Parts: sequence; structure tokens; C-alpha cells
Amino acid sequence: MSKRDYYEVLEISKSASADEIKKAYRKMAIKYHPDKNPGDKNAEEKFKEAAEAYEVLSDSNKKARYDQYGHAGMGGAAGGGGFGGFGGGMNMEDIFSQFGDIFGGGFGGGGQRQQQSRGSNLRVRIKLNLEEMISGTQKTIKVKKMKLAQGVTSKTCPTCHGSGVQVKVMNTMFGQMQTQTTCGTCQGVGKVADKIPSGANAQGLIKEEEEITINIPAGARDGIQLNVRGKGNDAPLGGTPGDLLVVVEEEVDKTIKREGDNLHQELYISFAEAALGTTKEINVVGGKVKIKVDEGTQSGKILRLAGKGLPNIEGYGGKGDMFVHINVWTPQKLTKEQKEFFKSQMENGDMNAEPTGKEKTFFDKVKDMFN
Ligand SMILES: [Zn+2]
Repeated sequence: MSKRDYYEVLEISKSASADEIKKAYRKMAIKYHPDKNPGDKNAEEKFKEAAEAYEVLSDSNKKARYDQYGHAGMGGAAGGGGFGGFGGGMNMEDIFSQFGDIFGGGFGGGGQRQQQSRGSNLRVRIKLNLEEMISGTQKTIKVKKMKLAQGVTSKTCPTCHGSGVQVKVMNTMFGQMQTQTTCGTCQGVGKVADKIPSGANAQGLIKEEEEITINIPAGARDGIQLNVRGKGNDAPLGGTPGDLLVVVEEEVDKTIKREGDNLHQELYISFAEAALGTTKEINVVGGKVKIKVDEGTQSGKILRLAGKGLPNIEGYGGKGDMFVHINVWTPQKLTKEQKEFFKSQMENGDMNAEPTGKEKTFFDKVKDMFN
């Protein structure tokens, strides 16, 4: 199913102010609130959809990313394989704990809902090279996480008798008021650990290593966060596991440097190659290409390979360029014969520098790069 546009979900225009976004979300949240629509799955989906839209549009960073890249920029929707994106990982508890205050007293997070425990999220960093970020890839990583130990048994919580909540009745000036809080003994699970295997903690969890395969969607950028649902820490006694949050880091390439959508690399050629001309194979994203170095090439010359850079960040289909900076390598160890040869060249002046005044200066080269 394709995701609806967040602005459409909240029925607002793209130019809506922060206040208008908040008001629009509040309206939707009240309309589709589960307390008002008991058992209505469609309303629950609408409620979640609105919360997801609000989560993104109320956060200036996420909103900017969404405005630029749409759902694809939200860390996963483009991947299609196992990501919940930002909102997909939200359950009702997340919504109430994050946005509960927006319902302004009329609605709370309590209701008749059964509280369920949730494992904590795990965050890992993953290093990707330029090519992996552009084309997408699959990575298998080892993650140390809390898992429910084998052989844990549980019994009904003696405090809340399995409901997961504690009800308190208070006398106030408005009369008797009932409040529900999460049971402090079982943290809302309704069960407590009975038999705990050795090595596991009081919640029956044990630290174990697990191999997890992650699909990285094409077009990932440094700093983007992917949300792998259910691959975080286990919850105590059978709740929902947390998520694995994967933060993408760009691996620093030793030979290729990035500058926006353009790429740069240094190419060293010998004195003889510069003088006679040659063909060189260089690395570009996605493989290698051959470039021609003209005879008489000066050190510092910059070759521009159009379209061999990165896909345009705005997604207009354009591509940056690859700039190859040529350095002529001056020989550092000469044989006696070579020394004699160069000495004779120096004496008769055959290899003297003879600039014509038409050579490109440093500033010309910088100007060329931006044309
Ligand atoms: Zn309890």
C-alpha cells in the first residue's frame, strides 16, 4: 500500500505553520481516538497515520527532510525491505507517551487499553563507502542485545493480578476520580519472572550476540537513520521487542573526496608520462574508467569527467562530476646515466620552463570547476 502524503493526512497545506500543524493533528487525533472509536480498526489506522505525520512535520529536521525527499527521505520507505521508517515503528504506546499532552486533558493515555511492555531500542552505526550509499546494499552485522533467556518461566503479577495497571481512587473537590497507572511491580506486563536461568537478569533477559542482515536503500546519506523494526532488545516476558536504529556513516575514502555532488581525486603521473602523454585507469563510482593524459600535460591540470559524480541531492536526475587533479611526479632517485641526461638537458636549455602566458592559473582552474 502506498503511503499517503503527510500534509494530505493532516488536511493542511505545505505552508502550514507549526501551530496549524499542531491544531490539525489534535483535530485528527480526537476524531480517530481509540476511546471514541472502540474496536474500529480503520479509525485506529487513521489515528496512527495522523500521529506518524505529526511526528515528522512537528520536528523541523524531519520536516525539512520530508519536504525535500518525501517518504523516501524518511529512512527506509525506499528500501522496502524490513524498515518501518519513522512512523511505521510507532505503536499506540509510543503515540500516547510522545504526544499525550496534545490531547489536553480530555483524553489520556489510559483508557481501557492493556499496557504492554516494549523492549528498548538499540542504536548501531554502520560504515558505508560511497558506492554502497549510492547503489544500496545489504550488510550483515553482529549486534549484542538483550534476549529473553531460554527457560524463563513467568507467573501472574501479584500486585495487579495480570491487568498491568494499578487503579487509584482519589477524593478531589470535583468528587471521586479514578486514575490508572502502569503497575510498578511488572512494568505493565501483567506477569513477573518466576524461574530465572543463571546468567539472566531479574527480568529474564540475557545478553547475546545476534547476526542481523540490514537492507540499505539506494541513496543513503551520511547521518541518515534506518529503523529496523523488532530487532532491538527483547521486552521482558513476551512484550514487543524494541527497534534496531541503524545510523549510516560515510566511510572516508582514501582516494576519492566528496564535495557536494562532485568528486575529486589526485592522479600522480611520471615526468615521462607527462611529457609523452599516456592513458590511465582511474576509479570512479561503479567501476573504473580510462582517461587520456595529453602529451605535454602540466602538473596541476584538472580533468573534468562530466556525470561521473554523485546523483543530484535534490533528485532532479542530474549528476555531479569527477575532477581528476594531475600531479607530475618528480623523480627522486636517479641513476648516474639519468643524471647525466638531465644535466645535459639543463646545460643546453632543451627542457627549460617556457610559459606562454596562456597557462591556466590556480584561479582559472577554480573558476572552471564551477562552470
Ligand atoms: Zn503488575
